[in-house]
Amino acid sequence: MSTQSSRIQILPKTLINQIAAGEVIVRPASVAKELIENSIDAGATQISLEVSENVRDIVITDDGCGMTPEEAPLSLQRHATSKISTLEDLIEVKTRGFRGEALASIAAVSRLNLVTRTPDSLSGFRLDVEGGEILKSQPTGAPIGTSISVRDIFFNTPARLKFMRLPSTELKRLLQVVTQQALSHPEIGFTVLSQKRKLLELPAHQSLEDRLRQILGSSLEGMLLPIEPGNLPVTIHGFVAKPEASRKDRSGQFFFVNRRPISNRLLTVTFEQAFKGVLMTGRYPVCAIFVFLEPDELDVNVHPTKEEVRFQDERKVGGILHRVISETLRKANLIPYSRLPETPGESAGEKKTAIPASGGFFSTPQRAIHEQFRKKKDAFSHRQTDLGFYEKTKPDITDEIPPRHKFSMPQPQPDVSSLEKESPPVFPQSSEDLRETISQAEPMGQIAGVYIIARCGDGLLLIDQHAAHERILYNRITSRKTKPDVQNLLLPITFEIEASRIPEMQEIMDDLLSFGIELERFGGQSFVIHTLPADLADMDAVALVKDILDAREDMGKDRDAVEARDEIAKRMACHGAIRAGQRLSSEEMTSLIKELSSAALAFTCPHGRPTMILMSKSQLDKQFKRIV
Ligand code: ADP
Ligand code: MG
Repeated sequence: MSTQSSRIQILPKTLINQIAAGEVIVRPASVAKELIENSIDAGATQISLEVSENVRDIVITDDGCGMTPEEAPLSLQRHATSKISTLEDLIEVKTRGFRGEALASIAAVSRLNLVTRTPDSLSGFRLDVEGGEILKSQPTGAPIGTSISVRDIFFNTPARLKFMRLPSTELKRLLQVVTQQALSHPEIGFTVLSQKRKLLELPAHQSLEDRLRQILGSSLEGMLLPIEPGNLPVTIHGFVAKPEASRKDRSGQFFFVNRRPISNRLLTVTFEQAFKGVLMTGRYPVCAIFVFLEPDELDVNVHPTKEEVRFQDERKVGGILHRVISETLRKANLIPYSRLPETPGESAGEKKTAIPASGGFFSTPQRAIHEQFRKKKDAFSHRQTDLGFYEKTKPDITDEIPPRHKFSMPQPQPDVSSLEKESPPVFPQSSEDLRETISQAEPMGQIAGVYIIARCGDGLLLIDQHAAHERILYNRITSRKTKPDVQNLLLPITFEIEASRIPEMQEIMDDLLSFGIELERFGGQSFVIHTLPADLADMDAVALVKDILDAREDMGKDRDAVEARDEIAKRMACHGAIRAGQRLSSEEMTSLIKELSSAALAFTCPHGRPTMILMSKSQLDKQFKRIV
């Protein structure tokens, strides 16, 4: 028995690292993410990536603080980190990495060279590693900073390799990772090169707004609304784009907690809820939202790569996010100005952003910064914010942040030339003034029985009469505090429904009653309507009830009670509103415009479609080529 060797054995180090890699390094994009985070933690001001055609080779170069010849081999060991040493540190951790296993994991599944040099040393140091084993280490000439070349990713883990998708898919994921990191640090320059082509080139020292625009494209011109954080217990910064800039998927949504890119269902859902009623279903709003919390208010360790966070107080974070976003949208001028095609060459094309050449990485001022990094090696976590890269241009906003949350996000610096093109100066920019101008618009008639045409200041106002009335009615229905005045029907309306819908019908009767529609089962499949809200007594109540039943079917079983009531309100507004094709008197048009101009969320109907379109005189002039 004693001759037999134990069946329990310690696994070889390489295997341990490969197993650990399985958790964090699942695809080339994860390699990029970990390496970029390390470069950011190293205080880099410029990070460049080069990716091979098959996306299995990645070279990353940074101008950060580098490593000494003693530190370099240590960095490849598991649980080797310069970022935490106590449990308290773990709770307080402000840097990107902290598990101390990313480099070890990457090295375990690739062939890796690391070249690094600190600002203090005269030469650099090079390590050649294969499958986690250091094959060679020697001094070498090198610029200050770190360059890590990872080749043949997953060469020794065939199972992982099999799970790699098409190179184009892997490259896309890698670019998503770079984009997220680049948005969280607009002061750092980023480039991504593949097959000699520059896929991404983001200059250093950008404002968040400029970076967002460059990343998401010229369609965001004039579309970004800065979030005003206010003086709330959770600080939220960033930008949301106007509803018109929405997308058909969530690819334009970026969330960060304490500057770490994360995904969190609560944030996504709450953010989208704030757009309810200003966005059509199936459209997704665009944003870059930065939430700041005390480290003890969240747990970032739930996910090995820290992409998910858990909040101590979900309701607080969600509530404040909702409030801040709704407020931003409410204050913004959400009226859709007309977007007629412009003359070629006028500005319709992509706005080319001048990108400075990325030479001069190691110029004197930057070297001074590295010197500073080295001195701060102990206080690693403070490197980024102490450098003063983020110039405050709007102290009034940042000053509202309680001191514990002080950080200095670059404030928006509007590109005047492009903004002016978007927002015609003829119409007032403030929401209140604009509403005032609209309230005085003079209706001139209807077009096709659908649109009201009106003179509005020096411009033209077009209104969708049905959508506009829907908005007014919806606001009235949902803002009632008590049951509305009802009209008893002299001739109660009787109707039948399919037997299968009877249970559903019985479920909605209480809700309908609270909205002023009293229904009674008449026996068999028959129901009778006794009352209607006094102000909506003309609507086709039977069509409404059937429509509500259909809507409930579409919503499925997991609808919530609030949503279901909201749906009833929307349907009532729709059935009660002026139809397309209905002729309106001048007085009716005037009062519709007046009521609309003072309605909350006046610029969209409850389904998110526009209620009106404004065209300024300057836009008309442009169309008629009166000005160049
Ligand atoms: P962690 O980031 O969790 O500390 P890693 O395995 O990613 O663990 O990195 C280990 C250590 O190697 C880091 O703590 C850091 O000291 C050093 N390091 C890694 N990448 C760089 C870099 N680009 N520049 C300077 N130091 C680095
Ligand atoms: Mg790391």
